[in-house]
Amino acid sequence: MVAERPESIPIAGGTDLLVHWPARVAEHERAYVDLSRIAELRSIAWKNGELVLGALATYWDVIHAGRMNEAYPLLVTAARQVGAVQIQTRGTWAGNIVNASPAADGVPVLMAYDATVVLESTRGREEVPLDAFYSGYKQMTKRPDQLVVAIRIPWREYDVAIFEKVGGRRAQAIAKVGLAITHSKAGWRVVAASVAPTVRRCPAVERLLNEGTPVRSPDDLLPAIERDVTPIDDLRSTASYRKRVMARLLYYDLRGVCPAFQ
Ligand SMILES: Cc1cc2nc3c(=O)[nH]c(=O)nc-3n(C[C@H](O)[C@H](O)[C@H](O)COP(=O)(O)OP(=O)(O)OC[C@H]3O[C@@H](n4cnc5c(N)ncnc54)[C@H](O)[C@@H]3O)c2cc1C
Repeated sequence: MVAERPESIPIAGGTDLLVHWPARVAEHERAYVDLSRIAELRSIAWKNGELVLGALATYWDVIHAGRMNEAYPLLVTAARQVGAVQIQTRGTWAGNIVNASPAADGVPVLMAYDATVVLESTRGREEVPLDAFYSGYKQMTKRPDQLVVAIRIPWREYDVAIFEKVGGRRAQAIAKVGLAITHSKAGWRVVAASVAPTVRRCPAVERLLNEGTPVRSPDDLLPAIERDVTPIDDLRSTASYRKRVMARLLYYDLRGVCPAFQ
Protein backbone atom coordinates (compact mmCIF):
# COMPACT_ATOMS: atom_id res chain seq x y z
CA MET A 1 0.00 0.00 0.00
CA VAL A 2 2.82 2.41 0.86
CA ALA A 3 4.57 1.58 -2.42
CA GLU A 4 1.41 2.32 -4.39
CA ARG A 5 0.78 5.59 -2.53
CA PRO A 6 4.13 7.06 -1.45
CA GLU A 7 2.35 10.19 -0.18
CA SER A 8 0.59 8.06 2.47
CA ILE A 9 1.49 8.36 6.15
CA PRO A 10 2.24 5.27 8.22
CA ILE A 11 0.63 5.36 11.65
CA ALA A 12 1.85 3.27 14.59
CA GLY A 13 0.81 4.47 18.08
CA GLY A 14 -0.45 7.78 16.68
CA THR A 15 0.84 9.71 19.72
CA ASP A 16 2.85 12.15 17.61
CA LEU A 17 0.61 12.21 14.54
CA LEU A 18 -2.57 12.97 16.45
CA VAL A 19 -1.01 15.84 18.40
CA HIS A 20 -0.52 17.58 15.04
CA TRP A 21 -3.92 16.58 13.62
CA PRO A 22 -5.82 19.82 14.44
CA ALA A 23 -3.07 22.05 13.01
CA ARG A 24 -2.17 20.10 9.85
CA VAL A 25 -5.55 20.29 8.10
CA ALA A 26 -3.98 19.77 4.65
CA GLU A 27 -2.80 16.32 5.75
CA HIS A 28 -6.32 15.12 6.55
CA GLU A 29 -6.84 14.25 2.88
CA ARG A 30 -3.80 11.96 2.76
CA ALA A 31 -4.03 8.20 3.20
CA TYR A 32 -3.04 6.85 6.60
CA VAL A 33 -1.63 3.32 6.62
CA ASP A 34 -2.32 1.71 9.97
CA LEU A 35 0.57 -0.61 10.88
CA SER A 36 -0.89 -1.73 14.19
CA ARG A 37 -2.19 -5.15 13.04
CA ILE A 38 1.05 -6.30 11.40
CA ALA A 39 1.97 -8.92 13.97
CA GLU A 40 5.46 -9.43 12.49
CA LEU A 41 6.42 -5.88 13.51
CA ARG A 42 5.50 -6.39 17.14
CA SER A 43 8.25 -8.75 18.30
CA ILE A 44 11.15 -8.14 20.65
CA ALA A 45 13.80 -10.78 19.94
CA TRP A 46 17.34 -11.63 21.08
CA LYS A 47 19.14 -12.90 18.00
CA ASN A 48 22.83 -13.70 17.38
CA GLY A 49 24.13 -11.46 20.14
CA GLU A 50 21.82 -8.53 19.50
CA LEU A 51 18.43 -7.19 20.47
CA VAL A 52 15.93 -6.66 17.65
CA LEU A 53 12.99 -4.39 18.43
CA GLY A 54 10.14 -4.71 15.93
CA ALA A 55 8.80 -1.42 14.63
CA LEU A 56 5.66 -1.73 16.76
CA ALA A 57 7.53 -2.36 20.03
CA THR A 58 6.30 0.20 22.55
CA TYR A 59 8.03 1.70 25.58
CA TRP A 60 5.77 -0.44 27.78
CA ASP A 61 6.79 -3.61 25.91
CA VAL A 62 10.46 -2.83 26.61
CA ILE A 63 9.86 -1.94 30.28
CA HIS A 64 8.22 -5.35 30.75
CA ALA A 65 10.45 -7.51 28.52
CA GLY A 66 12.64 -9.93 30.45
CA ARG A 67 16.42 -9.23 30.81
CA MET A 68 16.07 -5.69 29.51
CA ASN A 69 17.08 -4.00 32.75
CA GLU A 70 20.24 -6.08 32.99
CA ALA A 71 21.26 -5.85 29.31
CA TYR A 72 20.12 -2.36 28.23
CA PRO A 73 19.13 -0.46 31.38
CA LEU A 74 18.97 2.89 29.58
CA LEU A 75 16.10 1.66 27.38
CA VAL A 76 14.05 1.04 30.53
CA THR A 77 15.13 4.27 32.26
CA ALA A 78 14.25 6.40 29.23
CA ALA A 79 10.98 4.52 28.52
CA ARG A 80 9.79 5.22 32.07
CA GLN A 81 10.31 8.94 31.48
CA VAL A 82 8.37 9.16 28.21
CA GLY A 83 5.05 10.93 28.84
CA ALA A 84 3.02 8.81 31.24
CA VAL A 85 1.59 5.28 31.12
CA GLN A 86 -0.90 6.10 28.36
CA ILE A 87 1.88 7.25 26.02
CA GLN A 88 4.26 4.47 27.10
CA THR A 89 1.69 1.81 26.14
CA ARG A 90 0.95 3.26 22.66
CA GLY A 91 4.14 5.09 21.63
CA THR A 92 6.69 3.09 19.64
CA TRP A 93 10.48 3.40 19.46
CA ALA A 94 10.27 3.49 15.66
CA GLY A 95 7.71 6.32 15.79
CA ASN A 96 10.09 8.24 18.06
CA ILE A 97 12.88 7.79 15.48
CA VAL A 98 10.79 8.86 12.46
CA ASN A 99 9.14 11.75 14.28
CA ALA A 100 12.72 13.05 14.57
CA SER A 101 12.18 15.49 17.43
CA PRO A 102 15.47 17.02 18.67
CA ALA A 103 14.00 16.55 22.17
CA ALA A 104 13.18 12.83 21.81
CA ASP A 105 13.94 10.53 24.73
CA GLY A 106 14.04 7.19 22.92
CA VAL A 107 16.49 8.21 20.21
CA PRO A 108 19.40 9.24 22.53
CA VAL A 109 19.51 5.93 24.38
CA LEU A 110 19.23 3.91 21.16
CA MET A 111 22.08 5.98 19.69
CA ALA A 112 24.23 5.50 22.80
CA TYR A 113 23.82 1.74 22.26
CA ASP A 114 24.88 2.00 18.58
CA ALA A 115 21.45 1.04 17.23
CA THR A 116 20.82 0.50 13.52
CA VAL A 117 17.54 1.36 11.77
CA VAL A 118 16.22 -1.37 9.46
CA LEU A 119 14.21 0.04 6.54
CA GLU A 120 12.20 -1.99 4.06
CA SER A 121 10.18 -1.32 0.93
CA THR A 122 9.07 -3.38 -2.06
CA ARG A 123 12.52 -2.51 -3.48
CA GLY A 124 14.38 -4.29 -0.68
CA ARG A 125 15.96 -3.85 2.72
CA GLU A 126 18.45 -1.22 3.89
CA GLU A 127 20.20 -0.66 7.22
CA VAL A 128 21.33 2.74 8.46
CA PRO A 129 23.23 3.37 11.71
CA LEU A 130 21.02 5.62 13.84
CA ASP A 131 23.90 8.08 14.37
CA ALA A 132 23.96 8.61 10.57
CA PHE A 133 20.17 8.61 10.08
CA TYR A 134 19.47 12.34 10.49
CA SER A 135 20.81 14.99 8.12
CA GLY A 136 19.06 18.07 9.56
CA TYR A 137 15.94 19.17 11.41
CA LYS A 138 13.32 16.48 10.64
CA GLN A 139 15.49 15.32 7.69
CA MET A 140 16.44 11.67 7.53
CA THR A 141 17.79 8.87 5.36
CA LYS A 142 14.43 7.30 4.58
CA ARG A 143 12.50 7.37 1.34
CA PRO A 144 8.70 7.87 1.55
CA ASP A 145 8.09 4.29 0.37
CA GLN A 146 10.28 2.82 3.13
CA LEU A 147 8.95 1.62 6.46
CA VAL A 148 11.06 1.17 9.54
CA VAL A 149 10.61 -2.54 10.21
CA ALA A 150 13.05 -3.03 13.08
CA ILE A 151 15.76 -1.52 15.26
CA ARG A 152 18.89 -3.62 15.83
CA ILE A 153 20.97 -3.07 18.97
CA PRO A 154 24.29 -4.91 19.34
CA TRP A 155 25.05 -6.53 22.69
CA ARG A 156 28.12 -5.28 24.60
CA GLU A 157 29.26 -5.21 28.22
CA TYR A 158 28.72 -1.65 29.45
CA ASP A 159 30.45 -0.36 32.57
CA VAL A 160 28.84 3.09 32.30
CA ALA A 161 25.22 3.76 31.29
CA ILE A 162 23.66 7.10 32.21
CA PHE A 163 20.48 8.83 31.06
CA GLU A 164 19.62 12.40 32.03
CA LYS A 165 16.49 14.35 31.15
CA VAL A 166 16.23 17.91 32.41
CA GLY A 167 12.70 19.23 32.07
CA GLY A 168 10.44 21.76 33.72
CA ARG A 169 8.99 18.98 35.92
CA ARG A 170 9.66 15.33 36.67
CA ALA A 171 6.96 13.81 34.42
CA GLN A 172 5.14 14.77 31.21
CA ALA A 173 7.96 17.15 30.29
CA ILE A 174 9.79 17.87 27.06
CA ALA A 175 13.55 17.84 27.63
CA LYS A 176 15.42 21.15 27.87
CA VAL A 177 18.58 19.05 27.80
CA GLY A 178 18.86 15.30 27.37
CA LEU A 179 21.95 13.12 27.64
CA ALA A 180 22.70 9.43 27.14
CA ILE A 181 26.21 8.26 28.00
CA THR A 182 27.65 4.76 27.65
CA HIS A 183 31.09 3.22 27.90
CA SER A 184 32.12 -0.19 26.60
CA LYS A 185 35.12 -1.72 24.83
CA ALA A 186 33.93 0.22 21.76
CA GLY A 187 34.66 3.48 23.64
CA TRP A 188 32.57 6.36 24.94
CA ARG A 189 29.25 7.38 23.44
CA VAL A 190 27.86 10.76 24.44
CA VAL A 191 24.51 11.62 22.84
CA ALA A 192 22.75 14.93 23.43
CA ALA A 193 19.11 15.95 22.91
CA SER A 194 17.45 19.39 22.73
CA VAL A 195 20.76 21.15 21.97
CA ALA A 196 20.91 20.84 18.16
CA PRO A 197 18.46 20.43 15.24
CA THR A 198 18.62 16.66 15.75
CA VAL A 199 19.54 14.30 18.54
CA ARG A 200 23.26 13.83 17.94
CA ARG A 201 26.45 12.24 19.15
CA CYS A 202 29.10 14.59 20.55
CA PRO A 203 32.39 13.61 18.84
CA ALA A 204 34.55 16.29 20.54
CA VAL A 205 33.37 15.28 24.02
CA GLU A 206 33.76 11.60 23.13
CA ARG A 207 37.35 12.25 21.94
CA LEU A 208 38.20 14.05 25.16
CA LEU A 209 36.89 11.09 27.16
CA ASN A 210 38.57 8.47 24.97
CA GLU A 211 41.92 10.31 25.22
CA GLY A 212 41.61 10.74 28.99
CA THR A 213 42.11 14.53 28.88
CA PRO A 214 42.08 15.85 32.48
CA VAL A 215 38.84 17.68 33.38
CA ARG A 216 38.86 19.71 36.61
CA SER A 217 35.55 21.56 36.38
CA PRO A 218 32.39 21.75 34.22
CA ASP A 219 33.89 24.79 32.45
CA ASP A 220 36.74 22.61 31.12
CA LEU A 221 34.11 20.80 29.05
CA LEU A 222 32.61 23.90 27.44
CA PRO A 223 35.01 24.17 24.45
CA ALA A 224 34.25 20.58 23.40
CA ILE A 225 30.53 21.07 24.01
CA GLU A 226 30.57 24.20 21.86
CA ARG A 227 32.11 22.22 19.00
CA ASP A 228 29.46 19.52 19.25
CA VAL A 229 26.14 21.28 19.82
CA THR A 230 24.27 24.40 18.68
CA PRO A 231 21.48 25.04 21.17
CA ILE A 232 18.93 27.79 20.59
CA ASP A 233 16.85 30.10 22.77
CA ASP A 234 13.23 28.94 22.65
CA LEU A 235 10.14 28.87 24.84
CA ARG A 236 11.56 26.09 26.99
CA SER A 237 15.05 27.42 27.70
CA THR A 238 18.03 29.49 26.55
CA ALA A 239 21.08 28.37 24.60
CA SER A 240 23.44 29.45 27.36
CA TYR A 241 21.47 27.58 30.07
CA ARG A 242 21.44 24.44 27.93
CA LYS A 243 25.22 24.47 27.42
CA ARG A 244 25.96 25.12 31.08
CA VAL A 245 23.56 22.41 32.24
CA MET A 246 25.07 19.96 29.77
CA ALA A 247 28.57 20.71 31.11
CA ARG A 248 27.45 20.21 34.71
CA LEU A 249 25.58 16.99 34.00
CA LEU A 250 28.58 15.55 32.18
CA TYR A 251 31.05 16.63 34.86
CA TYR A 252 29.12 15.43 37.91
CA ASP A 253 27.90 12.23 36.22
CA LEU A 254 31.38 11.24 35.06
CA ARG A 255 33.47 12.40 38.05
CA GLY A 256 32.84 9.13 39.87
CA VAL A 257 33.43 6.84 36.88
CA CYS A 258 36.04 8.50 34.66
CA PRO A 259 39.56 8.77 36.20
CA ALA A 260 40.42 11.87 34.12
CA PHE A 261 37.62 13.81 35.86
CA GLN A 262 39.09 15.27 39.08
C1 LIG B 1 1.21 13.68 25.97
C2 LIG B 1 2.43 13.27 25.21
C3 LIG B 1 3.62 13.12 25.88
C4 LIG B 1 4.77 12.75 25.19
N1 LIG B 1 5.93 12.61 25.91
C5 LIG B 1 7.07 12.27 25.26
C6 LIG B 1 8.29 12.17 25.98
O1 LIG B 1 8.34 12.37 27.21
N2 LIG B 1 9.41 11.83 25.28
C7 LIG B 1 9.38 11.59 23.94
O2 LIG B 1 10.42 11.29 23.36
N3 LIG B 1 8.23 11.67 23.23
C8 LIG B 1 7.08 12.02 23.85
N4 LIG B 1 5.92 12.12 23.14
C9 LIG B 1 5.95 11.88 21.70
C10 LIG B 1 5.55 10.47 21.21
O3 LIG B 1 4.74 9.81 22.17
C11 LIG B 1 6.76 9.57 20.89
O4 LIG B 1 7.61 10.21 19.95
C12 LIG B 1 6.35 8.18 20.36
O5 LIG B 1 7.47 7.33 20.43
C13 LIG B 1 5.82 8.20 18.93
O6 LIG B 1 5.48 6.88 18.56
P1 LIG B 1 4.10 6.52 17.87
O7 LIG B 1 4.10 5.06 17.63
O8 LIG B 1 2.94 7.06 18.63
O9 LIG B 1 4.27 7.34 16.50
P2 LIG B 1 3.16 7.85 15.45
O10 LIG B 1 2.50 9.08 15.98
O11 LIG B 1 2.29 6.74 15.00
O12 LIG B 1 4.15 8.24 14.24
C14 LIG B 1 5.18 9.22 14.40
C15 LIG B 1 5.88 9.41 13.06
O13 LIG B 1 6.56 8.22 12.71
C16 LIG B 1 6.07 7.69 11.47
N5 LIG B 1 6.12 6.23 11.65
C17 LIG B 1 5.69 5.54 12.72
N6 LIG B 1 6.03 4.24 12.61
C18 LIG B 1 6.69 4.12 11.43
C19 LIG B 1 7.32 3.03 10.74
N7 LIG B 1 7.34 1.80 11.24
N8 LIG B 1 7.93 3.29 9.56
C20 LIG B 1 7.93 4.54 9.02
N9 LIG B 1 7.36 5.61 9.62
C21 LIG B 1 6.77 5.40 10.81
C22 LIG B 1 4.71 8.30 11.30
O14 LIG B 1 4.31 8.37 9.93
C23 LIG B 1 4.93 9.68 11.90
O15 LIG B 1 5.61 10.50 10.97
C24 LIG B 1 4.73 12.50 23.80
C25 LIG B 1 3.51 12.61 23.11
C26 LIG B 1 2.37 13.00 23.81
C27 LIG B 1 1.08 13.12 23.06
